Amino acid sequence: MKTSKKSHVSWKVIGHGKILEFLEMAIVDNTLTSAYLFHGPAKVGKSTVAKQFINAVLCEQTDAPCGSCNGCKSFLNKNHPDVVWVEKSLEQKNIGIDQIREQVIHRHHLRPSFAQYQITVIDQAETLSLEAANSLLKTLEEPSAESIIIIIADSPERLPKTIVSRCQRIEFFTVTTDAIRDFVVAESDTAISKGVIEDISHSANGRPGIAWRFIHVPEEWKTYQDDVLSFVEVINAPLSARFRFVQDLLSAKSFQENVSVAMNALKLWQTVLRSLLLGGYGVESQRLRALDKLSGKKLQFSRGDLASWLGEAYRLRRGLEANLSPKLAVEHFLLLFPSS
Ligand SMILES: [Zn+2]
Repeated sequence: MKTSKKSHVSWKVIGHGKILEFLEMAIVDNTLTSAYLFHGPAKVGKSTVAKQFINAVLCEQTDAPCGSCNGCKSFLNKNHPDVVWVEKSLEQKNIGIDQIREQVIHRHHLRPSFAQYQITVIDQAETLSLEAANSLLKTLEEPSAESIIIIIADSPERLPKTIVSRCQRIEFFTVTTDAIRDFVVAESDTAISKGVIEDISHSANGRPGIAWRFIHVPEEWKTYQDDVLSFVEVINAPLSARFRFVQDLLSAKSFQENVSVAMNALKLWQTVLRSLLLGGYGVESQRLRALDKLSGKKLQFSRGDLASWLGEAYRLRRGLEANLSPKLAVEHFLLLFPSS
């Protein structure tokens, strides 16, 4: 069965209005491209938009997605024969060439079974191995009228330029705190206080995926607050305490585990510094309440310092990806802060 011509697409997405308009137009006008690159920060909604976009393409009704036609049902049950979602499992370091051969290349020139298109998503595409990326490139160079490939990546600069240039680029940005606040209110039960709604909305830093976790996994919200507090404490602590902190933080046995702990710590600290920087520019009231609780502490850093530490955190994260020792990275970062 083929899908009928669409006249309207409805979305359940937080923010990203322009992207949704653009994708809806491509579906309605039937001007879909054979390869898309959805890129932008983690947890802003790239996969959510990709799923709803695919669902709308597969839906057999004019007002899509209807949720009840065969196309919608098999997609929602995750057994649509024309859709494949390629991703790295937790144990894998990369998306390997075998996965790309089996799940992408072999299917690429087959006719779709039911829908108008074969649709393939390659999630976390920056983790493609070099061979996998090269073989994917060959597929992108021979587009098929009945195939759509959606590549999702947080950092497109880590993809081969040749892949990026073959795709229609769709850039995602963080969404406004107002949009996140509306989402938090809609998702939360009524028992949640106004203060917590504000805290979560700001702490999510424009990423609906993070707000969702904070609302639905309370331990994550608690851990997040504790981690922010320990960071504020450690950058105000004497140097000896900073070294002890690093020792406790990186207590995992394996190098790789410590790399991921260091990476996550740097990411979190960047969000705290960014909040302070935005606070310094008077942008909304981005200061975290966790920081307010510690207002006795010295958090009046200059914009120049904040910007340079943010840059340093970014540089150290790139270093960690290239085998820099997690201990060196974290120590180096925490020693940037002035000691009294
Ligand atoms: Zn449908």
